Amino acid sequence: MNRVLIIGAGGVANVTVRKCAALPDVFHEIVLASRTKEKCDRIAADLPRPIRTAAVDASDPKQVGDLIHAVKPRLVVHLALPYQDLAVMQACLEKGVDYLDTANYESPEEARFEYRQQWAFHEPYAEKGIMGLLGCGFDPGVTNLFIAYALKHHFDAIEEVDIMDCNAGSHGLPFATNFNPEINIREITQKGRYWENGQWKETEPLAVHKTFDFPEIGPREMYLMYHEELESLVRNIPGLKAIRFWMTFSESYLTHLRVLQNVGLTRIEPVLFEGRPIVPLQFLKALLPDPASLAPRYTGKTNIGCLIRGRKNGQPRTYYIYNVCDHAACYREVKAQAISYTTGVPAMIGSKLILEGVWRRPGVWNTEQLDPDPFLADLNRFGLPWQEKFL
Ligand code: NDP
Repeated sequence: MNRVLIIGAGGVANVTVRKCAALPDVFHEIVLASRTKEKCDRIAADLPRPIRTAAVDASDPKQVGDLIHAVKPRLVVHLALPYQDLAVMQACLEKGVDYLDTANYESPEEARFEYRQQWAFHEPYAEKGIMGLLGCGFDPGVTNLFIAYALKHHFDAIEEVDIMDCNAGSHGLPFATNFNPEINIREITQKGRYWENGQWKETEPLAVHKTFDFPEIGPREMYLMYHEELESLVRNIPGLKAIRFWMTFSESYLTHLRVLQNVGLTRIEPVLFEGRPIVPLQFLKALLPDPASLAPRYTGKTNIGCLIRGRKNGQPRTYYIYNVCDHAACYREVKAQAISYTTGVPAMIGSKLILEGVWRRPGVWNTEQLDPDPFLADLNRFGLPWQEKFL
């Protein structure tokens, strides 16, 4: 019995649940649990087949463990927030159940992105015979698999990679984030970091930028940022000399962000307000639109891909692999915008490949460590077709 427990009921979980529900031969039973059960019930009410729902505080390993004990899933798909990764991984270890997530662990007190604490579960998971799959969204997730696919089929050695994430969509609001505002703003306001010639180099936040002509979109300004997949790719792609991550932002978005930073609303250290400590960024999150609510009005496309340089048969080669996704088409299919869609579909595919045994392997893994072929075939089948070009 392939029973899955999906935790979280936000924009991404909404997509994953709908995509899983459409595959009853793989996902025999689905249980959806989150902090606010009503959100799970709202998603459940709009599905083609019944699923069970529950309330859980995923930051408490005991609560997650008790829920796993009651539900008896084969796999826990953690789509709540990165703050809960370690608690959910711990509960899965204790109960002997496979685990999948889409974002690496972060402590609420420090905007620091690293896999160290999750990779520490590798030995205990391997000994227990269970699998943990980390970062199975689009970036991280698909981007790592694009690189693994390029290495498997088109390169003898990969030397340089630029991961480029462009959202050219428009939601018509002055300022909103496309996924959880707190997590998103923490990511964007930290220093830039990239890997070059065997060492990490740092830049001021969003200080380095250039224009790239994105297929089906056109020229857009993209900004160098640190992103978590850089850490695992530097470890797992042998011979890599340089890797950078870029994201596009509009002038208006950056101006809003600058103002919010200048007035202190993006800070994560608590301040006293009327005698009570509040975290300014959490207060800002409460003011900003729920990313899922942007979906009905979103138009335009995303283009996320990897520009890869290296060698094949002794000759230099440049290869570009990417997906283009249309916000309005996502809404028509699953009532979501493209950022939730491009994350939620890979989480479903990763879960499917684990349940089918195609990817299942005890230990804790990043996606580039697994066979990219079945995953890339499923991207084409389940709504995220990709394209490749030799430049
Ligand atoms: P949302 O903010 O829309 O949803 C988060 C959900 O988690 C909400 O339902 C929320 O519940 C729930 N939640 C929060 N805290 C807890 C808790 N302690 N216990 C149980 N449930 C909790 O986020 P998204 O759906 O946009 O993003 C989900 C995840 O996907 C995030 O980790 C994000 O970083 C990641 N992501 C990954 C991407 C990738 O490409 N790899 C891209 C985009 C996102 P409540 O409603 O009660 O607040």
